[in-house]
Amino acid sequence: MTLTYSMEAIAVVDSPYQEKFAIPRQPGLVQEATGVIRMLGEYNREEYIRGLDTISHIWLVFVFHQHLNAKPRPLIRPPRLGGNKKIGVFASRSTYRPNPLGMSVVALDHVTSENGQWCLHIRGLDLLDGTPILDIKPYLPYADIVPEAQAGYASDPPSQVDVTYTSEAQQQLRRLSENQATAQVSWESFVRSVLQQDPRPAYKQGSDENAEYGMTLYDQNIRWRVVQGAFEVFSIQEAEEDG
Ligand code: SAH
Repeated sequence: MTLTYSMEAIAVVDSPYQEKFAIPRQPGLVQEATGVIRMLGEYNREEYIRGLDTISHIWLVFVFHQHLNAKPRPLIRPPRLGGNKKIGVFASRSTYRPNPLGMSVVALDHVTSENGQWCLHIRGLDLLDGTPILDIKPYLPYADIVPEAQAGYASDPPSQVDVTYTSEAQQQLRRLSENQATAQVSWESFVRSVLQQDPRPAYKQGSDENAEYGMTLYDQNIRWRVVQGAFEVFSIQEAEEDG
């Protein structure tokens, strides 16, 4: 019996999230986040996705491709337990897994085909830009909704942090909404929703007054600081090109 498997990506994701830090810890938490699944090679054919236009939500099975060299651990510290209590990796949604596979439910807004490229336009994703997709399946409410489900240590959505913008950041938001290249994104609410999730590691929360953090969404570098436990966004600038 073979117990080792090799698989091929069937698609790749274009996501606004350019780095692991500040990606929401589950899908659906930031509804403003939109992405595109581009079908690859042999799978870039109408037949493979026929019927998806009647489906509102899909399951994505994907590879944590920027985590492949991480040593899997039997025990991890979920942020929901304050980052100090350990639980088994199979009792968690941690990325430190023996098989680095993620699964997410996302909204499927529409399907397009342009110059022979089939694309699934999705919303509410928690995936890094460039994430390889191994499989796509329809979300089936009759089977996938479990009304009596219990999730012990993670029963409620994570609590949220207040977010404000300095007047300089507000000016930069206006600039983005007036520029044709960036105007299609609702920057103010997108950035707010991402930061409200509190991307900081759990051990920093409550002990990092005045600390500064940064993240890149699309090609914009966003910086904020901790002020009385809340976040103040003070800078939104075009990111420097890599290399
Ligand atoms: N919903 C998925 C993912 C949960 S972990 C699941 O339950 O399996 C979510 C975290 O995975 C994000 O906060 C992000 O930091 C990380 N992540 C997303 N895409 C990734 C990728 N391609 N490689 C490595 N880490 C990734």
